[in-house]
Amino acid sequence: MPELPEVETVRRGLLPVMEGRRILRAEVNRPDLRWPLPEQMAERLTGRRVEALRRRSKYILADLDGGETLLIHLGMSGRMLIAQAEVGVFHHALPAAEKHDHVVLTMEDGARVTFNDARRFGMMDLWPTADLAAHPLLAGLGPEPFGNDFSETYLAERLRGRAMPVKAALLDQRIVAGLGNIYVCEALHDARISPERRVRDMTEAEIVTLVPAIRDVLARAIEAGGSSLRDYRQADGELGYFQHSFRVYGREGLPCLRPGCVGTVRRVVQSGRSSFFCPVCQR
Ligand SMILES: [Zn+2]
Repeated sequence: MPELPEVETVRRGLLPVMEGRRILRAEVNRPDLRWPLPEQMAERLTGRRVEALRRRSKYILADLDGGETLLIHLGMSGRMLIAQAEVGVFHHALPAAEKHDHVVLTMEDGARVTFNDARRFGMMDLWPTADLAAHPLLAGLGPEPFGNDFSETYLAERLRGRAMPVKAALLDQRIVAGLGNIYVCEALHDARISPERRVRDMTEAEIVTLVPAIRDVLARAIEAGGSSLRDYRQADGELGYFQHSFRVYGREGLPCLRPGCVGTVRRVVQSGRSSFFCPVCQR
């Protein structure tokens, strides 16, 4: 499941073909993904210029010149594919349409952006840009990890006295937006805090270390995504899936990667999801 860094990488990949460009043609090949697609979606997209391509949490937001914003969520298996009619920025020709090509946007310069999603857990919606904060999927979201609102003061106040394990707190999208299982595990390792620690048992000094830890692991992943993006452009134009090297996630039984630590990564299950951590350097 793509988390914030993967979505940000996809956004950056789409920027040069979408931002500032007009949508010449929109093909909507089925009525629904996870939920019904908006009514008259193709008509509402056709001829619109993408004024800005932004991200909020795990959503890509394309602000259109007609006053609506196209929301895109990749779900579990959603992929964005970019193809160019002529050899140009991307060196691959337009491929034949595939079975799970649900939405295809042809941009004014001939570039084609395809949303392909075999499992259809993804979603798209159109919503008035001015009222976007009220969209049901965005309204309850906490601050962005890189935003000024996500400060040490904020996190300390938000978490003070809570009984839940710190892992659960960081997965709560109302507290901080965009984190999933992978990057919470990585951030807790970075901050040397066990995922099983109860928030109310943590000192304020420990809580505030989570802010730079979260930003560091996300920034590293976005940087790695940037590198893989360059590879993908040369390959088949697909954006969105690449293999990161994680420090604890998926590394059960392997040595901790913290320099000087002799620990072995352990896996425990919390609320039905795997937590990976080092019991020696994470307390
Ligand atoms: Zn360790």
